[in-house]
Amino acid sequence: MQSRDTAPAAGIVDTHCHLTIAPLSADVDGVLARASEAGVTRVVAAAYDTASWDPLAALSGRNGVFVAFGLHPWVSSEELDLGRLERLLRGHNAVAVGEIGLDFKIEGCDRERQVRAFESQLDVAAALGLPVLLHCRSAFEEMLAILKRRPAPVKGVVHAFSRGPELMRRFLALGLHVAFGGAITRPGADRARSSAAAAPVDRVLVETDAPSIGLEGVEANDVEPRHAAFVVRALASLRGLSFEDAALLTTANARRLFGLS
Ligand SMILES: [Zn+2]
Repeated sequence: MQSRDTAPAAGIVDTHCHLTIAPLSADVDGVLARASEAGVTRVVAAAYDTASWDPLAALSGRNGVFVAFGLHPWVSSEELDLGRLERLLRGHNAVAVGEIGLDFKIEGCDRERQVRAFESQLDVAAALGLPVLLHCRSAFEEMLAILKRRPAPVKGVVHAFSRGPELMRRFLALGLHVAFGGAITRPGADRARSSAAAAPVDRVLVETDAPSIGLEGVEANDVEPRHAAFVVRALASLRGLSFEDAALLTTANARRLFGLS
C-alpha cells in the first residue's frame, strides 16, 4: 500500500468521516494535514451521537472541513432535540443531515424509535433543502419503503455501500447517490466491487467512514481521511480509469451534491 500517486489537481473529497471520534479527535490538525498531503483536500465530517454535535460545530470553520449534524440509529435512544439540530445545521453551514438511518442488525435499539428518529430527521433535511448521509444495515426494504413514501424525492447518499448492483439500482432509482469506502479495496468484496464498477458516473462518491471501516492492509482504527485516496485508486482500477479521472469525477459529484466550494 506504499505506492504513491501524485495528488490529483481536483482534490479528493472524503464524503464521510468522523473527526469527533477517537483516535481522529485527538489529532484533527495532523489528520487534516496528512489528508491534504495525500490530495484529500475536503472532508465531510458526520455526526454520531448528540455529544458529537458541539465538537463538530467547533470544527465547522476549518479549511476543507464541511459538517453534517444528525443522530445515528445506534444512538436513537438519545433524546433528539429537533430545534437544536436545526439551529446547528443553519448556524454552521452544514452541508448535510447525518449520519441518520436504520440498523436492524444492532441489538438494543428499538426499531420503532429508529424509524421515528429517521423520519423526523428526513423532515428537517427537507425543510432546509439539505442532502442526507444514510446508514443502512439489515433494513433495506424498510428504508426503501420510507424513502418512497416521502412527499418529495430525498437528496443524499447511501454511505459505505457494500451490497450488490441490484440493490444499488433501487436506491439510484429514487435519485440517491452511492458512496464506496474501504470495502472496494478488498479483493474478496465482489458485491461492493461490482456495484462500484457499475454505479452511474454522476452518482458515485468515495469515503472512508474513518475511523470505523478498515481497508485492505489498514486496520479500522488506523483509517484516516487520507485513505480516501486508496479508495479512489481502487475505484479507478475497477472502472478502467486513471487515478486522476476517478478523482475528478467523484469530486465533481461530491461538490454538486453537497454544494462544496
Ligand atoms: Zn459513519
